[in-house]
Amino acid sequence: MKKNNAMRLCFESRPENEAFARVVVSAFMVQLNPTLEEVNDVKTAVSEAVTNAIVHGYPRGGEGEIRLSVRLLPQERTLEVEVSDDGAGIPDVEQAMQPFYTTQPELERSGMGFSVMQSFMDGIRVESEVGKGTRVMMKKWLHD
Ligand code: ATP
Ligand code: MG
Repeated sequence: MKKNNAMRLCFESRPENEAFARVVVSAFMVQLNPTLEEVNDVKTAVSEAVTNAIVHGYPRGGEGEIRLSVRLLPQERTLEVEVSDDGAGIPDVEQAMQPFYTTQPELERSGMGFSVMQSFMDGIRVESEVGKGTRVMMKKWLHD
Protein backbone atom coordinates (compact mmCIF):
# COMPACT_ATOMS: atom_id res chain seq x y z
CA MET A 1 0.00 0.00 0.00
CA LYS A 2 1.50 3.30 -1.09
CA LYS A 3 1.67 6.05 1.51
CA ASN A 4 0.73 9.69 1.05
CA ASN A 5 3.49 12.19 0.46
CA ALA A 6 3.69 15.95 0.83
CA MET A 7 6.00 18.91 0.24
CA ARG A 8 5.97 22.58 1.13
CA LEU A 9 7.99 25.38 -0.39
CA CYS A 10 8.39 29.12 0.25
CA PHE A 11 9.80 31.53 -2.27
CA GLU A 12 9.93 35.26 -2.91
CA SER A 13 7.47 37.05 -5.13
CA ARG A 14 9.61 37.41 -8.24
CA PRO A 15 8.57 36.70 -11.85
CA GLU A 16 11.40 34.16 -12.34
CA ASN A 17 9.96 31.99 -9.56
CA GLU A 18 6.88 31.18 -11.64
CA ALA A 19 8.99 28.81 -13.77
CA PHE A 20 10.62 27.46 -10.61
CA ALA A 21 7.23 26.57 -9.10
CA ARG A 22 6.15 24.80 -12.31
CA VAL A 23 9.28 22.65 -12.29
CA VAL A 24 8.93 21.80 -8.61
CA VAL A 25 5.36 20.59 -8.89
CA SER A 26 6.07 18.49 -11.95
CA ALA A 27 9.17 16.91 -10.40
CA PHE A 28 7.26 16.04 -7.25
CA MET A 29 4.14 14.60 -8.91
CA VAL A 30 6.15 12.18 -11.06
CA GLN A 31 5.84 9.68 -8.17
CA LEU A 32 2.19 9.19 -9.10
CA ASN A 33 3.17 8.14 -12.61
CA PRO A 34 1.04 10.79 -14.31
CA THR A 35 0.54 11.22 -18.04
CA LEU A 36 2.31 14.09 -19.77
CA GLU A 37 -1.06 15.76 -20.20
CA GLU A 38 -1.78 15.54 -16.46
CA VAL A 39 1.61 17.05 -15.65
CA ASN A 40 1.02 19.87 -18.10
CA ASP A 41 -2.45 20.57 -16.68
CA VAL A 42 -1.10 20.87 -13.14
CA LYS A 43 1.88 22.98 -14.24
CA THR A 44 -0.42 25.37 -16.07
CA ALA A 45 -2.76 25.74 -13.08
CA VAL A 46 0.15 26.31 -10.66
CA SER A 47 1.65 28.80 -13.04
CA GLU A 48 -1.60 30.84 -13.15
CA ALA A 49 -1.96 30.81 -9.36
CA VAL A 50 1.68 31.81 -8.77
CA THR A 51 1.50 34.53 -11.42
CA ASN A 52 -1.60 35.91 -9.70
CA ALA A 53 0.20 36.00 -6.35
CA ILE A 54 3.10 37.87 -7.98
CA VAL A 55 1.14 40.40 -10.03
CA HIS A 56 -1.99 40.92 -7.91
CA GLY A 57 -1.00 39.76 -4.42
CA TYR A 58 2.18 41.81 -4.38
CA PRO A 59 1.58 44.41 -7.11
CA ARG A 60 4.15 46.86 -8.46
CA GLY A 61 7.02 44.54 -7.64
CA GLY A 62 6.12 44.49 -3.95
CA GLU A 63 8.05 42.07 -1.80
CA GLY A 64 6.42 39.11 -0.17
CA GLU A 65 6.41 35.39 0.35
CA ILE A 66 4.56 32.84 -1.75
CA ARG A 67 3.97 29.30 -0.52
CA LEU A 68 3.40 26.22 -2.63
CA SER A 69 2.35 22.97 -1.08
CA VAL A 70 1.53 19.69 -2.77
CA ARG A 71 -0.01 16.54 -1.34
CA LEU A 72 -0.04 13.23 -3.19
CA LEU A 73 -2.64 10.61 -2.28
CA PRO A 74 -1.70 7.47 -4.25
CA GLN A 75 -4.66 5.41 -3.01
CA GLU A 76 -7.15 7.94 -4.33
CA ARG A 77 -4.97 8.80 -7.36
CA THR A 78 -5.35 12.40 -6.23
CA LEU A 79 -3.08 15.41 -6.13
CA GLU A 80 -3.84 18.44 -3.95
CA VAL A 81 -1.99 21.69 -4.48
CA GLU A 82 -2.16 24.98 -2.64
CA VAL A 83 -0.69 28.36 -3.55
CA SER A 84 -0.91 31.12 -0.97
CA ASP A 85 0.33 34.66 -0.41
CA ASP A 86 0.10 37.27 2.35
CA GLY A 87 -0.64 40.04 -0.10
CA ALA A 88 -3.47 42.36 -1.12
CA GLY A 89 -6.32 39.85 -0.98
CA ILE A 90 -9.50 39.78 -3.10
CA PRO A 91 -12.58 41.79 -2.05
CA ASP A 92 -15.07 39.60 -3.95
CA VAL A 93 -13.79 36.12 -4.77
CA GLU A 94 -16.90 35.03 -6.67
CA GLN A 95 -16.62 38.03 -8.97
CA ALA A 96 -12.85 37.61 -9.40
CA MET A 97 -13.40 34.04 -10.58
CA GLN A 98 -15.78 35.03 -13.38
CA PRO A 99 -14.30 34.57 -16.87
CA PHE A 100 -12.82 37.80 -18.27
CA TYR A 101 -12.93 39.58 -14.91
CA THR A 102 -9.68 41.43 -14.32
CA THR A 103 -8.64 44.40 -12.22
CA GLN A 104 -5.68 45.05 -14.52
CA PRO A 105 -7.07 45.54 -18.03
CA GLU A 106 -4.48 48.27 -18.65
CA LEU A 107 -1.75 45.63 -18.31
CA GLU A 108 -3.48 43.56 -21.00
CA ARG A 109 -4.55 40.83 -18.62
CA SER A 110 -7.45 38.83 -20.00
CA GLY A 111 -9.06 37.76 -16.73
CA MET A 112 -8.84 34.08 -17.65
CA GLY A 113 -6.46 32.81 -14.96
CA PHE A 114 -9.09 31.34 -12.64
CA SER A 115 -11.00 29.90 -15.61
CA VAL A 116 -7.83 28.15 -16.77
CA MET A 117 -7.27 26.74 -13.26
CA GLN A 118 -10.89 25.56 -13.18
CA SER A 119 -10.72 23.82 -16.53
CA PHE A 120 -7.33 22.14 -16.02
CA MET A 121 -8.05 20.89 -12.49
CA ASP A 122 -10.95 18.90 -11.01
CA GLY A 123 -11.69 21.23 -8.14
CA ILE A 124 -10.71 24.68 -6.94
CA ARG A 125 -11.46 26.63 -3.78
CA VAL A 126 -10.29 30.15 -3.05
CA GLU A 127 -10.13 31.86 0.32
CA SER A 128 -9.07 35.46 0.55
CA GLU A 129 -9.11 38.40 2.91
CA VAL A 130 -8.33 41.97 1.90
CA GLY A 131 -5.01 43.07 3.35
CA LYS A 132 -4.25 39.55 4.60
CA GLY A 133 -3.76 37.38 1.54
CA THR A 134 -5.12 34.67 -0.70
CA ARG A 135 -5.17 30.89 -0.64
CA VAL A 136 -5.95 28.87 -3.79
CA MET A 137 -6.60 25.17 -3.18
CA MET A 138 -6.85 22.84 -6.16
CA LYS A 139 -7.39 19.15 -6.66
CA LYS A 140 -6.74 16.81 -9.56
CA TRP A 141 -7.64 13.17 -10.10
CA LEU A 142 -5.13 11.23 -12.12
CA HIS A 143 -5.72 8.25 -14.42
CA ASP A 144 -5.78 4.75 -12.87
P1 ATP B 1 -4.92 36.71 -16.57
O1 ATP B 1 -4.75 35.64 -15.52
O2 ATP B 1 -5.77 36.25 -17.71
O3 ATP B 1 -3.61 37.31 -17.00
P2 ATP B 1 -6.05 38.11 -14.36
O4 ATP B 1 -4.90 37.69 -13.54
O5 ATP B 1 -6.57 39.50 -14.13
O6 ATP B 1 -5.73 37.93 -15.91
P3 ATP B 1 -7.47 35.96 -13.08
O7 ATP B 1 -6.20 35.20 -12.91
O8 ATP B 1 -8.70 35.19 -13.45
O9 ATP B 1 -7.30 37.10 -14.17
O10 ATP B 1 -7.76 36.76 -11.74
C1 ATP B 1 -8.91 37.63 -11.67
C2 ATP B 1 -8.70 38.76 -10.69
O11 ATP B 1 -8.64 38.24 -9.37
C3 ATP B 1 -7.41 39.54 -10.86
O12 ATP B 1 -7.53 40.56 -11.85
C4 ATP B 1 -7.20 40.11 -9.47
O13 ATP B 1 -8.01 41.25 -9.25
C5 ATP B 1 -7.77 39.02 -8.56
N1 ATP B 1 -6.71 38.12 -8.00
C6 ATP B 1 -6.40 36.88 -8.42
N2 ATP B 1 -5.44 36.31 -7.67
C7 ATP B 1 -5.13 37.22 -6.72
C8 ATP B 1 -4.20 37.25 -5.61
N3 ATP B 1 -3.39 36.21 -5.34
N4 ATP B 1 -4.17 38.36 -4.84
C9 ATP B 1 -4.98 39.43 -5.11
N5 ATP B 1 -5.87 39.46 -6.13
C10 ATP B 1 -5.95 38.38 -6.93
MG1 MG C 1 -4.21 35.73 -13.56
